[in-house]
Amino acid sequence: MAYLDNASTTKPFVEVCDEVYKTLKENYGNPSSLHKLGRNSANEILNSAKVLASEINAKPAEIVFTSGATESINTAIWGTLGKLSKRGKHIITTQIEHSATLNIMHELKLRGYEIEYVIPDENGRISVKEFASRVREDTILASVIMVNNEIGSKIDIKGLCEAFKAKSKCGFFHVDAVQALCKISIDVKELNVDLMSFSAHKIHGPKGVGALYVKEKSNIKPLIYGGGQQSDLRSGTENLAGIVGFKKAIEINQKTYNKQHMIMLCEYLEMLLERYFADDGYVFNGESDTKAIINFAINGVKSEVALRVLESHEVYVSSGSACNKTKLSHVLIAMGIKPEIVDSSIRVSFCMDNTKEDIDMLIRGLTDCVSMFKK
Ligand code: PLP
Repeated sequence: MAYLDNASTTKPFVEVCDEVYKTLKENYGNPSSLHKLGRNSANEILNSAKVLASEINAKPAEIVFTSGATESINTAIWGTLGKLSKRGKHIITTQIEHSATLNIMHELKLRGYEIEYVIPDENGRISVKEFASRVREDTILASVIMVNNEIGSKIDIKGLCEAFKAKSKCGFFHVDAVQALCKISIDVKELNVDLMSFSAHKIHGPKGVGALYVKEKSNIKPLIYGGGQQSDLRSGTENLAGIVGFKKAIEINQKTYNKQHMIMLCEYLEMLLERYFADDGYVFNGESDTKAIINFAINGVKSEVALRVLESHEVYVSSGSACNKTKLSHVLIAMGIKPEIVDSSIRVSFCMDNTKEDIDMLIRGLTDCVSMFKK
């Protein structure tokens, strides 16, 4: 089997599974309970916050654990509006956001907010100049993806945030860093952002757990009200086993993740595509900066069919975001790629477990696809 769909989700590390199991079995105290069992659980949460905080140069008190990045993004956006909506109705985002962000923006438009979507260049990056030209004094929020989940392009968050803060009087800058965490270095203080969203299952952690960085004194409003856990920002008894599993995943990534491995896999894939499909014609979509995600199309090979043929070879890839199953990729369309190429696009996403043999299997499957389409 060749699992090459790591941008959709990753296989949890064995150590993560062990830690989750151990926590469920042994550490069942409610983190809000005042007795020893409760204090043990609360300590585990604090230790997990310390590990994530150290990865992004934040303080542990600035970390809020959530049910995943979708909740983090919702908390960041609705929470900002809860605090700032009286100051303005203008919001900036980009056309290459994940649907978690875009679908909130659609709803906000219906509720009377003015949303501006910055267009990417042909490589999938956002120009600081273009972005800066849209920021106004009354812009209350910017929400921008850090590494795109379909093509792996890295956005200049520092440049965008600088431009934003230079003009906006009081606005918050939120970053969707789901595909960036543990792949590129993140320093929230240097970036000067206010909010940042993360998800555990993209880094070999458990599903259903994520986090939101909330800069000290931001005072955003909570999305979920209740018992006042996590400094009132996210009520509800914490998913302790998930949080501890998230912590373990970060620790292992810190020790094992190596971009050179991704570069090696990418170069090998590029070499084989050139060797086997140069005559058929193929193109790369966008420019991957992390090299963990790579997107390409072989002329005339529809991705919907290719995915099924590849599956019969036990090769798992995707045609874009797992959350956007039925539509043509809005990211590739926004980059100005022709619809027939978008319809043939395949996203391959790597993790440290992938080997050249996985890519050999992918190429064998693709060769099969091409000969099918030629018949
Ligand atoms: N943002 C990006 C860039 C993603 O890739 C994903 C997951 O596909 C999400 C947000 C949503 O994350 P979650 O599945 O944790 O809700």
